[in-house]
Amino acid sequence: MGSGAWLGFGLTWASATSHHSKQDMKPLEGKVGLVAGVANKRSIAWAIAQAWHEAGAELVFTYQGDRLKGNVEQLAGTFGEDTLMVPCDVSSDEEIDRAFDAIRERHDKLDLLLHSIAFAPKEALESDFIQTSREAFRVAHDVSAYSLVALSRAAAPMMSQGGSILAMSYYGAEKVVPHYNVMGVAKASLEASTRYLAADLGPKQIRVNCISAGPVNTLAARGISGFSAMLKHYEAHAPLKRNVVPEELGATGLFLASDGAAAITGQVIYVDSGYQIMGMYQ
Ligand code: NAD
Repeated sequence: MGSGAWLGFGLTWASATSHHSKQDMKPLEGKVGLVAGVANKRSIAWAIAQAWHEAGAELVFTYQGDRLKGNVEQLAGTFGEDTLMVPCDVSSDEEIDRAFDAIRERHDKLDLLLHSIAFAPKEALESDFIQTSREAFRVAHDVSAYSLVALSRAAAPMMSQGGSILAMSYYGAEKVVPHYNVMGVAKASLEASTRYLAADLGPKQIRVNCISAGPVNTLAARGISGFSAMLKHYEAHAPLKRNVVPEELGATGLFLASDGAAAITGQVIYVDSGYQIMGMYQ
């Protein structure tokens, strides 16, 4: 039996475009993706954006504010001078509306959305969780979890041919990780939001998943006290005895965006050198 027969409609992207042979066709060719969360070249969003770009997707970038504009222009500019980059502070409904107005001016559809955004006030990541103020709790959930709901609601009407929405989570959502504090609680909300969004958007063939990444040395990670100890801890105790590298997050991000993951939705996929399976350290 030819592989196409049992893989069924998963391969229609290859057969639908007659002027390309199956070998030439890149997995995300013809797709338009929105990437939210590039701050600099170490950002996980940048690793996933590179994988999506190399797979043939056309990308749009949002950035948090003028402070990061230059960085994003420098990075995303390497994908072509006309790459669309729009400011979008996700704590503002008006900025989200304006960003999507700008995106709709350029593109009549969207296939992919990457949400790679988190924030909690620094003091909430230093003391005990019990000390979390009402305001720090609100901000962490607003920026790190609610924003996935808001961006998905704005993106979904543009995903008329189905789509893939991807958010970044961390193990602190399900177990206590020292100093991760309110960010862990916000990640639990992000992961639950992923499931509810997956149920809402499933009938439109829009999939929503999270990657739960092992620690990666980024700007956001440096805000967590004891972060370098975390890297050492994973190296010592994860089954693979090493930390993940951003390219591996890019590869999983590409898989989840591709037709290979066409029946995967509402899931949290661990890309953490296996750390999450351990119940007691060896
Ligand atoms: P990063 O600092 O490069 O990215 C965080 C991004 O969030 C930045 O681009 C920042 O501008 C953006 N952001 C924060 N507040 C925002 C707001 N109000 N509006 C718009 N954007 C805002 O760090 P990163 O590690 O690449 O983080 C990306 C995602 O990956 C986050 O969700 C983070 O929690 C998650 N994650 C990171 C790790 C890690 O170890 N680095 C592990 C697991 C999950």
